[in-house]
Amino acid sequence: MESEIKKIVKKLKNSKYCVALTGAGISTESGIPDFRSKDSGIYNYVSENVFSIELFYTQPEIFYNFARKWLAQVITKKPNKAHYALAKLENKGILKCIITQNIDGLHHKAGSQKVYEVHGNIRTSHCLKCGKEFDFTYVKNELIDKNNIPVKCNLCGGIIKPDVVFFGEQLPQDFMSAIEESKKADLMLVLGTSLTVYPVAMLPEYCDGELIIINNEPTPLDSRATVVINKPLGETFELIEMELAHVADYFV
Ligand code: ZN
Repeated sequence: MESEIKKIVKKLKNSKYCVALTGAGISTESGIPDFRSKDSGIYNYVSENVFSIELFYTQPEIFYNFARKWLAQVITKKPNKAHYALAKLENKGILKCIITQNIDGLHHKAGSQKVYEVHGNIRTSHCLKCGKEFDFTYVKNELIDKNNIPVKCNLCGGIIKPDVVFFGEQLPQDFMSAIEESKKADLMLVLGTSLTVYPVAMLPEYCDGELIIINNEPTPLDSRATVVINKPLGETFELIEMELAHVADYFV
């Protein structure tokens, strides 16, 4: 482990364009349940159909009944050491951006600036009828505090949909940007994703640079990676930061 940490830090220091790709694993360490994990995954008790756009158009209350419980849990969660370490790496000019499949906004909460959210986010929502944008506070008040299901536009009464990418929807501009960033990267940190769910799983394929994979379990790209660590992200980044402290001025 020690030599692997040293290797990672050396790669970070020498990289010209380092990007991070983060998956559910970084959020589960903050206590946010994963959708697909075998035992505790949300899809074990909720059908994937809750994120079907067809179903949302006809029966939005099915999504909102699920979202009410999920959101009530998510808003209490905080970024962990790995989120903060990534924000710091960006602040120090080492990390150029984060590409994430998570919709919980924890990278923003940790202070990261350039974050591409390839599955969308819950900070904003739009009215399907008139297009009015709503911030998270409006949706939280309507959904969690008032239990108004489905959440409706205060202007025209249309149904509001969070800016999360549903199954059957086009991928957002952020995904196109993520492909460009992956192509530019000479070093990609692949964090907390088992690289099995497309289209996110194909992003490292666009990267000709080196891969560093930190995930609880093996991934299909482990053989291509320069370093693979199967340990929790929080404790791994704690060690990385300790090693980075040897870099002059890192904690100034
Ligand atoms: Zn409206």
